Amino acid sequence: MKGDCIQILVIGAGPAGMMAAIKAAESGAEVAVLEKNHLCGRKLAITGKGRCNITNTKPWAEFATHVHPRSNFVRSAFYNFSNKATIEYLNSIGLETVVSQGDRVFPSSMKAFDVVDALVDRMNALGVKLISDADLLAVSAEGNQFNCTYNDLSSPRSIKTEKISSTALIIATGGLSYPSTGSNGRGYDIAASFGHSVTRCYPSLVALLPKNYDCSLYDVELKNVGIKLYVGRDLVQSDMGDLTFTEDGIEGSLGFRVSRKAVNALENGSSVELVIDLKPAVPLPELRERVKREVSSFKWDVPLINDARLKKVLRRFMPAEMIEPFFRMSKGLTVNTLPERLKEWRFPIAKHAGYRRAVVTAGGVSLDEVIPKTMQSRLNKGLFFAGEVLDLDGDTGGYNIQMAISTGALAGQSAAKYVSTL
Ligand SMILES: Cc1cc2nc3c(=O)[nH]c(=O)nc-3n(C[C@H](O)[C@H](O)[C@H](O)COP(=O)(O)OP(=O)(O)OC[C@H]3O[C@@H](n4cnc5c(N)ncnc54)[C@H](O)[C@@H]3O)c2cc1C
Repeated sequence: MKGDCIQILVIGAGPAGMMAAIKAAESGAEVAVLEKNHLCGRKLAITGKGRCNITNTKPWAEFATHVHPRSNFVRSAFYNFSNKATIEYLNSIGLETVVSQGDRVFPSSMKAFDVVDALVDRMNALGVKLISDADLLAVSAEGNQFNCTYNDLSSPRSIKTEKISSTALIIATGGLSYPSTGSNGRGYDIAASFGHSVTRCYPSLVALLPKNYDCSLYDVELKNVGIKLYVGRDLVQSDMGDLTFTEDGIEGSLGFRVSRKAVNALENGSSVELVIDLKPAVPLPELRERVKREVSSFKWDVPLINDARLKKVLRRFMPAEMIEPFFRMSKGLTVNTLPERLKEWRFPIAKHAGYRRAVVTAGGVSLDEVIPKTMQSRLNKGLFFAGEVLDLDGDTGGYNIQMAISTGALAGQSAAKYVSTL
């Protein structure tokens, strides 16, 4: 194949690239995929803690509220290959799925590798040529042809530079998050070399590290708590759910939900604070009464409540492992201030965990220069984009993989149509 001109070349074998290749091949096109790693779908294989939350069953109106920054761009791709179509398609190629936690869809085996295998097997069955260990370096256009240069990494001791040409090119190289899985932002450089604007990128769905973080909080999980995100003095988001304290900071589904706005604000130099409400279902006056009741059950005189006694009261309101850090962080805590402190545990944020640990990248190839009905570049005929390389990111819950699949399927079909008309 080296030196040949293939009809459609897909760069990147993540969910977007594999789906693009499959749909292009099913439309009758000759397709090759160039993948930097030895294996396809390295990121896909670690998604959902190894279980892969493939998609979400929500109807578009609700699904769209979890898509940033402009859900409208994804609408056509979603209707062309929806969450329902994704489930049916995966089932039809032998991957059984299950709906869990209300609306999240996983492989029945709960093994992300099975999703990767199903897509790779389908590509193989369709005769898609896979060029792995191939790191795309640059692309130039000449007439109706894209000329790609890549490093052949298959023998690390003697890396060779190779060339491959195609009539249509689909960039599905992902974003900048988890670079260990292969996505390092090269797609943005290639888009820019074709005149595309790339909006400012920043990590999203990422841990937020509190200032003076108390390491005894590591591994503490909080269920059904409230959170408020303040940027400067402004309350910009409030939500409820579960969060986890890890070495990297505050994360878990609730922490991730506020991380997009928090990271954006931190990167703009604003001060960011998270305020955790440990008793969101109990209004403050009621909580005051509860604290009073608990204290009186010990039959102590309130003025005689020392730190040790206060910690015994705390035990009635939080898991044991949280008492010491909560106490240390709540300077001057008394029985009287306890109700307010339980509802307003303050965490000024120092920084975020960065791309190394971010689930997705916010920002990317500008949506203004890509046609939403085809995923084709408005600037260069024959050039298509799919997946996270675009300025698109979703919340946790299967939205990101679904967007990769929907935009990938549409890019593949559109590229096949494009080459068939030449
Ligand atoms: C830990 C983790 C858990 C996640 N869990 C979920 C989840 O459960 N549900 C969900 O919806 N989303 C989840 N996501 C997000 C989701 O995985 C991504 O949004 C999705 O994989 C994006 O798909 P993509 O195909 O656009 O990019 P990627 O999956 O990143 O694939 C891009 C591919 O392009 C290749 N590539 C990059 N540059 C080059 C180059 N120069 N030459 C050749 N190849 C190149 C890369 O090696 C890679 O294989 C998770 C992400 C992480 C990091």
